[in-house]
Amino acid sequence: MITPGPGPALAPGRTHPEPSSAATASHPTSAPAQATASRSSALPACNKPGTWRTMHDPRRSPEGGTVRWADTVMCATRLQQLQGAFVFTVDHPGLPRCAGAHRPGQPCDGTRGKHPYGRWTRDSTNDPDAIRAALTRGPRNLGIDCGKSGLLVIDEDASGAFDHYAESIGRVVPVTFTVTTAKGRHVYFRQPPGTPLGNSTGALSGRGIDVRGRGGYVVGPGSIHQTGVIYTPVDVTTAIAPAPGWLVHALGAAPAGRSRPGSGTRHGSAQGRLRGAVAAVLDAQPGERNNLLHWASCRAAEMIAARELDRATAVGVLTEAGKAVGLGPGEVQATIASALRAAAL
Ligand SMILES: [Zn+2]
Repeated sequence: MITPGPGPALAPGRTHPEPSSAATASHPTSAPAQATASRSSALPACNKPGTWRTMHDPRRSPEGGTVRWADTVMCATRLQQLQGAFVFTVDHPGLPRCAGAHRPGQPCDGTRGKHPYGRWTRDSTNDPDAIRAALTRGPRNLGIDCGKSGLLVIDEDASGAFDHYAESIGRVVPVTFTVTTAKGRHVYFRQPPGTPLGNSTGALSGRGIDVRGRGGYVVGPGSIHQTGVIYTPVDVTTAIAPAPGWLVHALGAAPAGRSRPGSGTRHGSAQGRLRGAVAAVLDAQPGERNNLLHWASCRAAEMIAARELDRATAVGVLTEAGKAVGLGPGEVQATIASALRAAAL
């Protein structure tokens, strides 16, 4: 449950500004029409024409400032219903002081609009009614629990940083649910099959990119940054894509110059090797998907034979990977079974 917090109190006359052009103009995958609509509309976020717009319900704070409550509520509902996200409430920069739950001895660092209200790992919910109630008690930003939601979010400190990384390895960032932020973008992906990735940047270290996965959260769309920029979805209708294999591979790699924790052998941990095999399947093109699934299944079979991996886990992860790239359930099952039979498992 999310409990009520301090009452609403925006500064007199304060309104949500429109997102700055710096926050919206540089997304290479955003259609021009979307960017134009975002800039020209008085509604800052989640403002696609149609149902979202008609639900807009600005209210007046006691001091007279306009608070666009409905933007955050709509974003939360949308994320919960369409994307299965678990969300919670976060401090809002319009409040007179941080609403974040800071522990004794760990005072607020003064950053506004980002600190969770309450214990977010406990409070995050996928119940639209619960989050609507929590968000309408006063100005709140929206937090998204990446772990519970099965999400992996790339958080750019500089606009274009993620695209630059992808280009540097000859890849392209796939179209997926994306939110513009004060400095760059949040690019959302589904976690890969198998053990979820955490907040480690792996090979993306030092490139102006943060990663939020298991154990992490991001401030969600409809929220307002302390600079006044609003976290704005590029297109609210875009689905969250599976994490591409090259990204999974990069995040599982050791940062340059450091050995990877948990690497038990010279070949890396079984978990890391399984993840590498799955990454190859996730990047497979039509025509090579079945071959790569078979190859990954053979690698898994070796690990099962060496008692590094249990068969049920391997089959579950490989099945998910095969389905994620569009192979039929029968084909997936037959391919994995064939590889395991060949290894006499
Ligand atoms: Zn705080």
